[in-house]
Amino acid sequence: MKIAVIRERREAEKRVAASPDTIKKYKGLGFDVVIEAGAGEAAALPDSALEAAGATIAKDLKAAIGDADVILSVQGVEAKDAKLAKKGAAQLSLVNPFAEPERVQAYADAGLAAFAMEFVPRITRAQSMDVLSSQSNLAGYKSVLDAAAHYGRAFPMMMTAAGTVPPAKVMIMGAGVAGLQAIATAKRLGAIVSATDVRLAAKEQVESLGGKFVMVDDEEAKAAETSGGYAKEMSDAYKAKQAALIAETLAKQDIAITTALIPGRPAPRLITAEMVKSMRPGSVIVDLAVEAGGNCELSKPGEIVEVGGVTIVGYRNVPSRLAADASLLFAKNLLNFITPHVKDGVLAFDWDDQIIKESLLTKDGAIVNPRLAPAS
Ligand code: NAD
Repeated sequence: MKIAVIRERREAEKRVAASPDTIKKYKGLGFDVVIEAGAGEAAALPDSALEAAGATIAKDLKAAIGDADVILSVQGVEAKDAKLAKKGAAQLSLVNPFAEPERVQAYADAGLAAFAMEFVPRITRAQSMDVLSSQSNLAGYKSVLDAAAHYGRAFPMMMTAAGTVPPAKVMIMGAGVAGLQAIATAKRLGAIVSATDVRLAAKEQVESLGGKFVMVDDEEAKAAETSGGYAKEMSDAYKAKQAALIAETLAKQDIAITTALIPGRPAPRLITAEMVKSMRPGSVIVDLAVEAGGNCELSKPGEIVEVGGVTIVGYRNVPSRLAADASLLFAKNLLNFITPHVKDGVLAFDWDDQIIKESLLTKDGAIVNPRLAPAS
């Protein structure tokens, strides 16, 4: 069977969905691996390195996927290219299915078994396949480095003969995978770190990393977590209490890193323009939720905005800013997703498996995922 790894086509996407390690593993499982020329270049993986691991290089997309049984990428085959693939081929990538229904339809029309890696359930068995976690972890780390790069002061306290430099005060909003890594990174750099979340379960995790947990602790917060471990959208009354708490805390911070997301909803608005004004000049906000609508009212996707001396950083696709590491982990997540379904060199998905069922979007010409069913 043949696995094809394609070159990414989306703007500013530097990652690649294969690594020398995963190529060797696929070869060991009995697959031929074909890489579209130049696919790994932006992630420090030139064709020669992938060839040395056992892949062959295809000159273009058609040559790569035309007869492939499995197509791997980070952002997925574009809708217009889906028909280049073989009917029945599996396509694995991020798909952004709610925002790009026409692409899902193109996969169905092309007869692909298309999987959205962002739909892989957050269950223990699927942890090694979880691209949201592997990529958010890196984004959380990078957000602190981005904040430090834009901050005109030092993070750690420095006691020198010329005087004492005070430590930076960093607040992390949203203590999920990205937020927890941001806390750990900011602590390592010597900052004084506090964090907030709506899920009470986050308190212990924040404190175990040496952060101070700040939250509105009321009856509603006790039920803020869904069975899947995600946050719910909170009531207006809760939001008002949270805004007062954030306003009070934020005015004393030098850096705010926001990571708060609610699945299927716009990102919660946590920092208003008014709150930005309360921060002292030289402060920095990094909004990791900028592509989901933003946690900060003034952040703009892909831009660095300055308001009253406060720098608001809104980089898109932050994992791609660490393309080499992000690619290794993403590629491994895909390998871990596929491996349980390979027997004697043949890939045969167990269509009844929970992970397969929840992440499969299209099969045999139809859209099959219940999350994409039209609202009745
Ligand atoms: P996420 O990216 O959906 O959201 C980031 C954080 O923002 C979350 O902690 C969320 O509670 C928080 N948030 C949402 N609304 C907020 C608001 N109004 N104010 C403040 N914070 C707000 O979350 P995630 O990083 O994907 O993680 C979600 C959960 O899933 C966590 O509990 C995590 O530990 C868990 N998880 C489990 C597994 C697994 O078992 N396989 C894997 C990964 C994550």
